[in-house]
Amino acid sequence: MQNAALLELGLDYLYVPLPVHPSRLETAVAGLQACGFVGFNVTIPHKQAITSLMDRLTEPAQLAGAVNTVRIEPDGTLTGTNTDIGGFVQPLVNSDWQGKTATILGNGGAALAVAIGCRQLGFEYIHVCGRDRDRLYAFCSGNTALEGVKPLLWTELDRVLPRTDLLVNTTPIGMVPTVEESPLSTENLSHLPEQATVYDLIYRPRPTRLLERAIGRGLRGIDGLAMLVAQGEAALEFWLDRPAPAGIMARAVQTLN
Ligand code: NAP
Repeated sequence: MQNAALLELGLDYLYVPLPVHPSRLETAVAGLQACGFVGFNVTIPHKQAITSLMDRLTEPAQLAGAVNTVRIEPDGTLTGTNTDIGGFVQPLVNSDWQGKTATILGNGGAALAVAIGCRQLGFEYIHVCGRDRDRLYAFCSGNTALEGVKPLLWTELDRVLPRTDLLVNTTPIGMVPTVEESPLSTENLSHLPEQATVYDLIYRPRPTRLLERAIGRGLRGIDGLAMLVAQGEAALEFWLDRPAPAGIMARAVQTLN
């Protein structure tokens, strides 16, 4: 989708995947600087580790303690930002979430961006649901931006579902190749209120089994494609300091299934 946008803008740039071993991250970044790259995205497992290599961090990156987009400035210095938060929020901004309750499944990297995004949207209660007590509590207490976010074990989930306005899946359950699986059973889903929204960050397949069930129950469903596109457009804008061409990335990813 980045290459489709670059082509549309008539720029002689190319977006390429470059797998990097964690032990070679610093060397890889120095290589990108030396080769004249304009910028790059960072994904699992480097999003936190790369922050220490940045010369400056934008506010979203500071909040999340994680970087997914880096701009190499003309003087070679590095500015890190986080477009995952804005990408997640984008499909939700037209609703009023003040005083509402969000329940987030999973306590990994995406859950952090989602929890911060929910805070920005005005949710009053934010629950993060994890399967491992130590990792869950470490997640909730590990970032000042998550102050007040409530840790919840999977076994306690049914307790909060009846007052959940937004349920977000940030686990990989239901993603290719586990497409038959869903983090919530039909029974779990039946506890959600009728006006609830179910947002699955997964974009392959579309819809996931979770969304299929939610939509089948008459709930509003959002898949991960909108977030993928929104974070990508924001990254391109950050690198080029100009708007991403409207609709091009969205069209380019429509074929994902
Ligand atoms: P991650 O850091 O590995 O986190 C995954 C989380 O899911 C962890 O908390 C893990 O729990 C939990 N989990 C995994 N398998 C589970 C299971 N069987 N039962 C219960 N919990 C389970 O990964 P991530 O970066 O957050 O990404 C998560 C998902 O979001 C992926 O599907 C990814 O494709 C999607 N994503 C989408 C976008 C987008 O633009 N749409 C952006 C980012 C991520 P433990 O901590 O206990 O292991």
